[in-house]
Amino acid sequence: MSSTAAAANIHADLHCHSCHSDGVLTPRAVVERAAAQGVAMLALTDHDQTGGLLEAAAAADIHGVHLIPGVEVSVSWGRTTVHIVGLGIDLTDPVLQRGLEQVRSGRMNRARRMAAGLAAVGIDDTLDGALAHASNPALISRTHFARHLVERGVSPNMRDVFSRYLVEGKPGYVPHEWASLADAVAWIRGAGGVAIVAHPARYRLGDLGMHALLSAFKEAGGVAIEVTTSNHTADDVQHYARLVLEFGFEASRGSDFHGPGESANVELGRVAPLPRELTPVWQRFLA
Ligand code: AMP
Ligand code: MN
Ligand code: MN
Ligand code: MN
Repeated sequence: MSSTAAAANIHADLHCHSCHSDGVLTPRAVVERAAAQGVAMLALTDHDQTGGLLEAAAAADIHGVHLIPGVEVSVSWGRTTVHIVGLGIDLTDPVLQRGLEQVRSGRMNRARRMAAGLAAVGIDDTLDGALAHASNPALISRTHFARHLVERGVSPNMRDVFSRYLVEGKPGYVPHEWASLADAVAWIRGAGGVAIVAHPARYRLGDLGMHALLSAFKEAGGVAIEVTTSNHTADDVQHYARLVLEFGFEASRGSDFHGPGESANVELGRVAPLPRELTPVWQRFLA
């Protein structure tokens, strides 16, 4: 069997979150759940920080899971927020850590402005409520506001609350300047990692915009894009598989799990296999 075929057969989930960012479970519980789901290789990829990785690594040792240290960096690409996953990073790398700290630093101020926007439409006192859901206040995110608003009965579910209150043009949305694409990729590469475009179908860029993003990403040293992820349809998978081949990228696969039962059909390890013609990015971690 070729190494690509061997890698393709590994049950890999290379994108998920713990309570160190906007997930619900502790890193240990994420690893335990992944093991129970039969995941052999797992990357914990919390947003803009790496604080859960040591706990995850200890749990992975106990459960025989191959843990890949990861991170999901928030990037501003023009007016579009793009997420870049870094895998195989050295979490002690000082340039990466300084960069992530800088990305995190604007979150609390943004959260105050989000709360002000919601108050302006009559939904008061959301900051404390959102913070009550955030075990790591430095990573206060739209997800924590969403959980609070659902809990308050403002919206029936996460999907609804995002579309009514938390996306561009809605009262709780505050535009934010994240890292540049070039910086995010450079931090990841500098820390010995590989950079991957997360959930590409989420970005409303159009064909030309997506080509421009992928060209800039490749130019910066990015190597892969997520092809199978929970929010990609079968058509999305085909579309991004073609782009992988066109750009000479490798392909990644990840559930983007945030918590049990939070979004329909999102579960650790439950994500379609990659199309066979693609090179799995995790082949790099098998050597
Ligand atoms: P932030 O980094 O604060 O802008 O929050 C972004 C997070 O919100 C993402 O990582 C997702 O976890 C979550 N998110 C974004 N859009 C949606 C959506 N439409 N439905 C559910 N969760 C979403
Ligand atoms: Mn998230
Ligand atoms: Mn993301
Ligand atoms: Mn994610």
